[in-house]
Amino acid sequence: MSTDCLFCKIVSGQIPSRALYEDDEVLAFSDIAPQAPVHVLLIPKRHIAGAQALDSADAALLSRLFEVARHLAEELGVVKSGYRLVTNVGKDGGQSVPHLHFHLLGGRALQWPPG
Ligand code: AMP
Repeated sequence: MSTDCLFCKIVSGQIPSRALYEDDEVLAFSDIAPQAPVHVLLIPKRHIAGAQALDSADAALLSRLFEVARHLAEELGVVKSGYRLVTNVGKDGGQSVPHLHFHLLGGRALQWPPG
């Protein structure tokens, strides 16, 4: 836990969130400013600053995050229509919260390339 990290505070319950899934390692909750009809954030409970901080010891955790994303995509009804799973890295990547998170976006046609 990083004491000044927003998502660590969500994990600990200090900041409320609308959780959609939780287990020992992973939390998924609704984005506070949704950019699509479906906009969920999937995070490891353990503080990892972002994708650039991952290493091979995190392989099982990453696999778990993707597994949860697949299940949520099913539950939220976007598998057939399609969805995007994305993580932003650093300033130019648009990362505003330095705790690894994947955005699961769907429910509308998403543009590519991103702006
Ligand atoms: P990023 O900009 O890729 O780092 O994504 C951070 C995301 O966290 C943004 O989509 C924000 O809308 C979202 N966010 C920020 N604060 C909260 C919060 N308290 N609860 C849920 N989502 C949040």
